[in-house]
Amino acid sequence: MDTVIVGGGTFGASLAWWLSRAGERVTLVDQFEPGDRRASSGGETRLFRCSHGHDADYTAMARRAQALWRELEAESGEELLVECGVAWFAHREDGWEAASAGTLAAQGIPYEHLDVSSAARLYPSFRGADLAFVLLEPEAGVLRAQRAVRALVARACARGARLVRGRASPDGEAVVLQDSTRLEGDVVVWAPGAWLARLFGDLIPLAVTGQEVLFLDGGEAWGAPGLPAWVDYDRAMYGTADLDALGVKAALDVEAPPLDPDAPLPDTAVSEPDVRAYLRDRFPALEDAPLVEARSCRYELTPDTHFLAAPHPAHPSVWLVGGGSGHGFKHGPAMAEQLGAALAGGAPLPARFGLGKRSRSGSLRTAGSGRET
Ligand SMILES: Cc1cc2nc3c(=O)[nH]c(=O)nc-3n(C[C@H](O)[C@H](O)[C@H](O)COP(=O)(O)OP(=O)(O)OC[C@H]3O[C@@H](n4cnc5c(N)ncnc54)[C@H](O)[C@@H]3O)c2cc1C
Repeated sequence: MDTVIVGGGTFGASLAWWLSRAGERVTLVDQFEPGDRRASSGGETRLFRCSHGHDADYTAMARRAQALWRELEAESGEELLVECGVAWFAHREDGWEAASAGTLAAQGIPYEHLDVSSAARLYPSFRGADLAFVLLEPEAGVLRAQRAVRALVARACARGARLVRGRASPDGEAVVLQDSTRLEGDVVVWAPGAWLARLFGDLIPLAVTGQEVLFLDGGEAWGAPGLPAWVDYDRAMYGTADLDALGVKAALDVEAPPLDPDAPLPDTAVSEPDVRAYLRDRFPALEDAPLVEARSCRYELTPDTHFLAAPHPAHPSVWLVGGGSGHGFKHGPAMAEQLGAALAGGAPLPARFGLGKRSRSGSLRTAGSGRET
């Protein structure tokens, strides 16, 4: 099978890697170099976790992705997944975290149910008087996302995939580059991240927003190895300790204003007061930590935060893939495995990845999203 893939983010690059491992012929097209910051997958770090509330399928997909990230590490010789754990701050006994624990238990994925005083030992400073408990996923952690994407592309190319640099447009079943080069395959997969909204906006309910991420200087204590990343689902905040001397990462996860896919990333710190207010409540030592850097990155959000992966209604050999909705990175290789099977005529993808109208529902990221179509 000859496959042309447009988009070398986590979804497209993972598919290129997966298909080239299976001996398929692959052409991967991207307008940028792999890992470019303008792509959603181009951030240095992304959280890896299996917790997805009651959702058993995303839980299993993340767990499968973990095994595949480890295979990529073995192939590339790079440490891409830092297993520092992820701590979930539960405000209720019966919320997202309790649901996640039930799903993790059913799939044999390790977790710890910590009372707040035991959770305090996880961090250099911690306040949890507002919490019911803390769910710790010890085998979760942080993916070195940009490096992981580069490794996927490098390994795909090492197995014969062709990487083409150029901006592509669809022409029926073909892909046409700006210099008029025409690429055709048995299958064409469009995985262009936020640009899906521009290229196929009539078929796909996708909102593109610019999300801020702040990096703070937490000092030596926050750079110690093994401090878990964290998510406060109900308060829509997440972060990491200081990994790779990037600074302590902290971000407000509510949906930001729309941002055109081609607009420059603003790198503002509008969310800083909200982030600092949260840090004062949770990690008091970080409240006044100096801001090292503010970054923005695009979310490409579906209304229900479920991914998109479906054939084009008018061109069955053309597939549209994306809608990572702020939680897609970790799933890349497992999504590629499922997609690869579907492209080869095997098991179909879940119906909820289909095109068309979707209803708003609980978010798979934090409680900070959800919009009407
Ligand atoms: C701030 C932030 C934090 C996040 N945190 C997490 C997290 O903790 N955990 C997690 O799992 N996920 C997280 N995500 C989500 C995750 O990063 C995205 O869901 C995922 O990276 C999307 O990957 P993609 O392959 O769909 O798109 P992208 O990574 O954007 O890749 C699309 C590629 O297509 C190329 N392209 C687009 N149009 C064209 C064209 N016409 N011609 C040629 N090339 C084209 C682009 O150049 C780009 O390289 C986060 C996202 C952001 C922004």
